[in-house]
Amino acid sequence: MTCRETLNLLPLFFDGELEPRQMRAVAMHSTRCAPCEAALREIERLQEVVSSTLNTRVDEIDLSGLWTAIEPRLRARQLSWWERVRAHWQDPSPWELRLPAFAAAAAIALRCVAVLTAPRAEPAPERHEVAEDPRVEAPPPEVMHRDPL
Ligand SMILES: [Zn+2]
Repeated sequence: MTCRETLNLLPLFFDGELEPRQMRAVAMHSTRCAPCEAALREIERLQEVVSSTLNTRVDEIDLSGLWTAIEPRLRARQLSWWERVRAHWQDPSPWELRLPAFAAAAAIALRCVAVLTAPRAEPAPERHEVAEDPRVEAPPPEVMHRDPL
């Protein structure tokens, strides 16, 4: 491998992006050629400078107020139950996964309709039994005829 080929491949060599055969060839050349070894050391030094500079700048960023700024917005964005149901139905997941939820919702809806439309079973007032028992006072007539609901 020539110096020109080695110098062209050094950045890829440093990042570990060469094929094993090329990695081996660049490494062999760099250990035997002083100028190419110096170029490799220069890349290493540059990488260290960039890395330490980035780390220093990241450490300088003040993140102390970040969570206190985010948290109130999270609390303000609580979804209502209806928005959650709508989000569930707008979910692009396959229809089969939604089928059980649809069946449950349909069953609940049918039950509600059945309860609301069923004739009310009003127990017939048992006046004669109450009247026959002298220990039990019969309630006033307006209580007896009041709608139980
Ligand atoms: Zn060389």
